[in-house]
Amino acid sequence: MADTTFAYAPAPESRAVVSLRPAYGLFIDGAFTPPTERLITTVNPADEEPLAEVSVADEGDVDRAVTAARRAFERVWSPMPPAERGKYLFRISRIIQERARELAVLESLDNGKPIKESRDVDIPLAAAHFFYYAGWADKLAHAGFGAAPRPLGVAAQVIPWNFPLLMLAWKIAPALATGNTVVLKPAETTPLTALLFAEICQQAELPPGVVNIVTGAADTGRALIAHPGTDKVAFTGSTEVGREIARTVAGTRKKLTLELGGKGANIVYDDAPLDQAVEGIVNGIFFNQGHVCCAGSRLLVQESIAEEVLHRLKERVSRLRLGDPLDKNTDIGAINSAEQLARIRALAQTGRDEGSQDWAPDCELPAHGYWFAPTIFTGVTQAHRIAREEIFGPVLSVLTFRTPDEAVEKANNTPYGLSAGVWTEKGSRMLWTAGRLRAGVVWSNTFNKFDPTSPFGGYRESGYGREGGRHGLEAYLDV
Ligand code: NAP
Ligand code: MG
Repeated sequence: MADTTFAYAPAPESRAVVSLRPAYGLFIDGAFTPPTERLITTVNPADEEPLAEVSVADEGDVDRAVTAARRAFERVWSPMPPAERGKYLFRISRIIQERARELAVLESLDNGKPIKESRDVDIPLAAAHFFYYAGWADKLAHAGFGAAPRPLGVAAQVIPWNFPLLMLAWKIAPALATGNTVVLKPAETTPLTALLFAEICQQAELPPGVVNIVTGAADTGRALIAHPGTDKVAFTGSTEVGREIARTVAGTRKKLTLELGGKGANIVYDDAPLDQAVEGIVNGIFFNQGHVCCAGSRLLVQESIAEEVLHRLKERVSRLRLGDPLDKNTDIGAINSAEQLARIRALAQTGRDEGSQDWAPDCELPAHGYWFAPTIFTGVTQAHRIAREEIFGPVLSVLTFRTPDEAVEKANNTPYGLSAGVWTEKGSRMLWTAGRLRAGVVWSNTFNKFDPTSPFGGYRESGYGREGGRHGLEAYLDV
């Protein structure tokens, strides 16, 4: 038979649309400060090329940002008629759409994610989030949180590097719609779209101080969380840092939401549509290089079809294209940082040491940058670290089950509880399973589907509070 494999010509998206400054200041009170004395360099993880230098905010800078946010809250933003606040959010949403290509290219450069994901997922969803919450701004009295729900004040927000602009939108849009002002710290390795967002706030003529962006590393995050002048703390990131933040905030009157890690189970029953399930397994763990808190990192497949599913899965994974994140045909981009790559490698090694078998397709990794081939571990038991700990990379652990009870028991055998997926053709089996899974989100015959109208959040070590939807308003209201 003739070889029918397609060869793809390179199809890189142009970088020309992005203009970077050599060094960035902090965005405080509607303006950029001059760059601070201490700077950090953010690199392109696909080739380790330095992209720009970014300021490191210290306690004094954080204090100035919180003071600006307080002033804007009291004098401008909370007294403003809610419909007027909504107009600013609509405007921000529109500008994100207008500048979508610029934002997508910049996100892929700074983060390493494939352009088709930043272009088709991250940026459109960020715009949709602002658009959705803009609509709530003048309808809060009908949201079910009392006749006249009030904003909290100033929100301190710390976000991770896996969906930089999208996590910013999840944090800032509901805060602003409810009348709060914010100080946000992006992750050290992915600050650039947050800084471009600051320019978008200027373009939208958002009143100074309503949004403040302070860049830096963990110490900046610590200073922001500990600042006594805020009323609300919102964090997305690791469970370990989440614990530290919960301790810092305990005993204050600040309201807290934590969105932490996960070890999502993706359950495939023997009656599932297999081709569809295989696409869902791939999307569940290899989307965004597996840097997804709700990733389907544990595949639970019914024993009778395990061999067939694995065969089809390996076939499919062999066809994923790994490489230049800016190439429109790329499926798997770069790992975000050398640190994260080291973590993934170390956890994968424990899988081998503890007796699981790993498989990866024959794919060539680029010589520079941070890369990890999509990997599937079989022979995994529940005791293995790769079945329990979040790897946050393109690594799937495969376990099997015989009965629905066993599937549910294994799925729930985790300290986390963020997401799960169920694949079956029977509605009754779907509902029976979903009702027994202890996870904030359960997807049915799909995975990693997001919508601004739908609440998202976890149980237990995955954190608490909900983001998105009507529920997401509550975190920013005095109810
Ligand atoms: P992380 O350390 O929790 O970082 C998240 C954010 O918190 C970043 O902005 C980080 O700043 C900041 N930060 C770090 N230490 C802090 C502290 N003590 N006080 C206040 N803020 C602090 O997460 P990571 O290092 O990026 O990733 C580590 C692991 O977390 C991953 O392997 C993964 O398991 C998990 N993770 C989960 C999610 C999620 O969406 N649930 C997202 C990312 C990571 P810097 O980036 O500047 O250090
Ligand atoms: Mg970077």
